[in-house]
Amino acid sequence: MRAFSPHAPNRLALAYANTYSVGMSSLGFLRTYELIHDQEDWAAERFFTDGTGMPRSVETDSPLGDFSAIAYSVSFEEDYVGLVQMLDRAGIPARREARTPWHPVVIMGGSCAAINPLPMAAFVDVFALGAAENLLTAMLDAIAEEPHRDAVIARLAETPGFFVPAHHQPESDDALPKLHKREIGADQMRKPGHLPVSPIVTPHTEFANKALIEMSRGCPEKCKYCWATFGMGKFRWHPVDFILEGMEQVRAITDQVGFVATAVGDHPEIARILHYANEQGFRSSVSSIRIPAVKEETLIPLYESGARSITLAPETGSDRLRFIMNKPIPNAVLLEKVRLIFRHGFTGLKLYFIVGLPQETEEDVEAILELAADCQRIMVEEGRKTGIVGNIHLGTNVLIPKPYTPWQREPMADERTLKRKLAHLKRGAARIPNVTLGTMSPRQAIWQTYISRAGRDAAEAIERVARGQKIAQALREFADRVHPEVFQAFPRELRWHFMRTA
Ligand code: SF4
Repeated sequence: MRAFSPHAPNRLALAYANTYSVGMSSLGFLRTYELIHDQEDWAAERFFTDGTGMPRSVETDSPLGDFSAIAYSVSFEEDYVGLVQMLDRAGIPARREARTPWHPVVIMGGSCAAINPLPMAAFVDVFALGAAENLLTAMLDAIAEEPHRDAVIARLAETPGFFVPAHHQPESDDALPKLHKREIGADQMRKPGHLPVSPIVTPHTEFANKALIEMSRGCPEKCKYCWATFGMGKFRWHPVDFILEGMEQVRAITDQVGFVATAVGDHPEIARILHYANEQGFRSSVSSIRIPAVKEETLIPLYESGARSITLAPETGSDRLRFIMNKPIPNAVLLEKVRLIFRHGFTGLKLYFIVGLPQETEEDVEAILELAADCQRIMVEEGRKTGIVGNIHLGTNVLIPKPYTPWQREPMADERTLKRKLAHLKRGAARIPNVTLGTMSPRQAIWQTYISRAGRDAAEAIERVARGQKIAQALREFADRVHPEVFQAFPRELRWHFMRTA
């Protein structure tokens, strides 16, 4: 495995606004780290939120404030608070307008930049829109070649793929041409050098000692709430030969691989990849599989490699609502797949659901429990044949109507309704043997919706929470801003449509 030296003429602070364990579980973050080291004369130093006081780099214990540029990789809106806290701890003015020529350029990439950067526009100097592969060289050249902070920012404002809040005013500037997000295309993925593989494997992450390998991007399905399918471009996959080579790369350091993608099971060569992993002695796992992609040819090698649990996302309990959300898979098909899973010896099944969907009725919520009971019955029937009864976990989330999805204009259900529905599910699940249920906090979901869809004026609420205010309190204090953004349909121009996928 490759060694990364921190010694280079140019150093970039690469920050993840969450803990080491979470950040090092992000293949996007690790990939960016590797790509920076691929650039001549550049080294990256990693920063996370762990600890107190000045954030210091993993590599050389250098203080965050010593760097001339800090690049954040942000994939979850909840990390906005952590980003502001890191700047506070480093003594760097959180508001970009308060920064002087001696302060670093603060850059934010990752999927949140491409979903809606406006809520963070008061804190971030430059947003990178799209894949690091397509943006890093221009960004690092600007940092290395320009004489000062303002010149770096001005140059990136003229560079395709960057949104620079001090220079671009999409809310008022009708003449601003669309900014292009520079995602990785299918043609790039077919060329060598574009396969993300964990360049570092560590025991201190969610995926302890596991090397992650990306299988594909986008998704062939078009669920109406899903940013991954509408925001990431068409479904495309990495060639099988590159994935097999990726396994060769990590073989010396680990015997565990995790294949990641929004639609892992849809890779046309999934069976060959899993068999190869088994032949090479890897224990392999996959992130959740699309229901139609659950097939014997996938389940057998997964089971042989030691996997005992499968994750599926039916999202709703009723066919009616599932069809409305554009996932035309009836319960009958789902139950066949569940039988196939338990018949092949798996003992764990995770099922993900969403409540608060448009047109959802009380019957739809009840249908989640009925579906869970049907799955449990199948698990017991199949378990009788082997003498092992497993368990089913229901992960229940709340709809976050995200930008760039067909439901981006939808209002959220109110907190009381969401709480009532989740409590009903909790009580119902407790009555089904071997079934557990986890729920998302409705308040957290409201916060997430607000900071996904809001404009620049969300900065105050984010700042308050970063400085210790409870989310509930911030939602109350800024209720006059939060309510129109969260609980009303968006009839007006969508503020994030100043960007589009190239
Ligand atoms: S199947 Fe999953 S990844 Fe694909 S569109 Fe639906 S929710 Fe998104």
